[in-house]
Amino acid sequence: MPTTNPAPSTDFIRAAIEEDLRTNRFGGRVCTRFPPEPNGYLHIGHAKALCLDFGVAEEYGGLCNLRYDDTNPTKEDVEYVDAIKEDIHWLGFDWGDREYYASDYFERLYEYAEQLTMRGLAYVCDLSADEIREYRGTLTEPGRDSPYRNRSVEENLDLFRRMRAGEFEEGSCTLRAKIDMASPNIVMRDPVMYRILKAPHHRTGDGWCIYPMYDWTHGQNDSMEGITHSLCSLEYEIHRPLYDWFLDALGIYHPRQIEFARLNLSHTVLSKRKLRMMVEEGIVSGWDDPRMPTLCGLRRRGYTPEAVRLFIRQVGLAKTDSVVDIALLEYCIRQDLNLHAPRAMAVLRPLRVVIDNYPEGLVEELEAVNNPEDATMGTRQVPFSRVLYIEREDFREDPPKGYFRLSPGREVRLRYAYFVQCVGVVKDPQTGEAVELHCTYDPSTRGGDAPDGRKVKATLHWVSAEHATPAQVRLYDRLFTAPNPDQEGHGYREFLNPKSLEVVTSCQLEPSLASAAPGSRYQFERLGYFCVDGVDSRPGAPVFNQTVPLRDPWARIEEAQRKG
Ligand code: ATP
Ligand code: MG
Repeated sequence: MPTTNPAPSTDFIRAAIEEDLRTNRFGGRVCTRFPPEPNGYLHIGHAKALCLDFGVAEEYGGLCNLRYDDTNPTKEDVEYVDAIKEDIHWLGFDWGDREYYASDYFERLYEYAEQLTMRGLAYVCDLSADEIREYRGTLTEPGRDSPYRNRSVEENLDLFRRMRAGEFEEGSCTLRAKIDMASPNIVMRDPVMYRILKAPHHRTGDGWCIYPMYDWTHGQNDSMEGITHSLCSLEYEIHRPLYDWFLDALGIYHPRQIEFARLNLSHTVLSKRKLRMMVEEGIVSGWDDPRMPTLCGLRRRGYTPEAVRLFIRQVGLAKTDSVVDIALLEYCIRQDLNLHAPRAMAVLRPLRVVIDNYPEGLVEELEAVNNPEDATMGTRQVPFSRVLYIEREDFREDPPKGYFRLSPGREVRLRYAYFVQCVGVVKDPQTGEAVELHCTYDPSTRGGDAPDGRKVKATLHWVSAEHATPAQVRLYDRLFTAPNPDQEGHGYREFLNPKSLEVVTSCQLEPSLASAAPGSRYQFERLGYFCVDGVDSRPGAPVFNQTVPLRDPWARIEEAQRKG
């Protein structure tokens, strides 16, 4: 759609809204809605819709309604209704007092359906679901008229009222719009408006046994709420003629539907149906499993709303579907946590180190910087003593070329502390594995520099054994090994990453982390970002979830492979 004066900095949706504001199409108003179906938890794809729906409303001084699309009682649950609200608030958006439900409008919608029936624009059809499909035709063949298509208005009205009254069995008949069985657009071939479902609804109880279809519901609800721009994902593009047809047939206020591309994320699936299956099959621990692409999963993983919104901004808006690399999401959380997460020292796989020449019983409090990116976050004291833990992988008895960390005879820096030199290795007689190192320290290097100017090539993190807090740390990897688990092969299950969760017990943390509050986030120096698990953590027995490693190990591996 060419505009005479396209604003260079805006996307096609904002451009369309600005155009409508210029032409006064909706009296200068902007009102959007976010329409979740309460049949699952929100995922990162919904975050895109949320940022758009609430975002444009905010930007143009308008409003965004929350409207539950609760037209299918068999799949819906209040558990989801509550979770959706929590997630929207977490992301930073608010619908004020405009919390609506499609089911609030069932009565008015029914009246509209009677109007169309009375005007000969809807009819009761006795074809079964299979027969309707068969009569519908295909993309290349036109459909055939239902044998019930030419019932009289009186008969249709009588049957429709009796449908509502519960006189007919489920599946025995439907109300259909009378449009055009030869339309090139299959959606327009006499779409079903109501089906019989003898199921109680979580809000209307037993009040209804006919339930409206999405297409019949959505546009009319938009109209009743005075929505100006009904933004939805691309799969609704072919439904737009129907959206328009219903509103025009009823002659009521007509909002504008605009479609945008769905967000797809690599190495995961974004479909509530599949996510629910993973929960039900126990592949993950729940909707909030930190590996899930749900908003509650990301939150438990340590993602911030700011990082999610930054990610959505980076993705931008497009009119064609594409898959966004999950590495971009990880980049966004690193950006945010680098600026805001306090640093701490944590040893995931401890190796005991005894500093032979450090006085027994002496404890020094050494000053550590909380965040080098933000001086206002100050410093803290970290205790240093004769027995420490370092990371097992920071020691190699036979260091390969380029390995600069600790090895026999080698001197390294302990962060915020001293230079130490490895003078002995105690090994497990059975396995030959190092179980304890002996080092000496140079007291003149306190704080991390040698007065004689000598250099070391590595700085290690450490914790004082006597002061350390033991903890469980959960390391996460991608849920799927394939970038597009949905598209490749025969089903996403075969690409499940068996190593997506690694539980590391007996980690040792610096004592300041003993009282870390659930949900609080840290950078464990040299390792990555971690967040106190809000579900399983206990005072004195903290559980940390890895949000993201400091650098992307996959990128590093790939880089190494590329270089051969
Ligand atoms: P799913 O396929 O995951 O079940 P859905 O479209 O059925 O998703 P709804 O609850 O109906 O889920 O979605 C609410 C809103 O979020 C809709 O406007 C929908 O277009 C939008 N939405 C859902 N998934 C995505 C996605 N991956 N990217 C962008 N928008 C999405
Ligand atoms: Mg939907």
